[in-house]
Formats: sequence, structure tokens, C-alpha cells
Amino acid sequence: MLYLGNLPMRVGAFHPMGTNDIVLNRKLIDAAAKTEPKWKAYVFSILLHEYLHTLGYVDEKQVRSLTYRICLDNFGRGHYIVEAAATGPWVNLSPEAFESLGEEMDLERVPDFERIDSGYII
Ligand SMILES: [Zn+2]
Repeated sequence: MLYLGNLPMRVGAFHPMGTNDIVLNRKLIDAAAKTEPKWKAYVFSILLHEYLHTLGYVDEKQVRSLTYRICLDNFGRGHYIVEAAATGPWVNLSPEAFESLGEEMDLERVPDFERIDSGYII
């Protein structure tokens, strides 16, 4: 399941261990949408990073390295997804983007991200 939530700006997303949930930082994605490379590249690299966590990779340094390597192997050097995997969305944000944070997480499930009949999780 994919959720959008208001998280601290330094957090792109998180995966609660033992679940199939990923919570993506709504405020970060909103801020990244105004930057280059394209915001979809940031979302892709963040989701790939969290997917690797769902597979049991818990070491942050290892997951960042794997995310970058997978993007590089599949998209090639110079592609904006590879750049997004290397830098993360934070590099292009203004200081003001870090100031606004709501009091509540305000979780919102993204509908139809995972269909209940897909059956790929045992
Ligand atoms: Zn992580």
C-alpha cells in the first residue's frame, strides 16, 4: 500500500518493517515538483529505495548504493533518474521548503496502487 503523509522534510519516505506499506512524504514531493530533474525521477528513486527496504535490506548506506546502481544499470549515466538517485530531492530545495511542516501526518492512501487481487505478496 502506498500512502502520502506529511513527514519531516529530511525524510523522503519510510517503510514500516513487517508491512507492505510505504509512506511517501507529500510535502517533499510537492516541493520537488517545482525542481529539476523532473519530480517523477525523485518519486521513482524514493520508491525504489523503499521497495529495497521491503525486500529486507535495512542498511541505509547499502540501500542508497543499490538504488543508485539499479538506476544506473537500467537508465544509463546522465539520465535524470540516475541524478535523482544520486542526489535525492533535497539538493534543489529552497530553505523555505524546509520550514513548512504540518502538525499531523495526515495519511492518505493512494487508491489502486496495489490491487488486492494481484497476489504477488505471499
Ligand atoms: Zn531508507
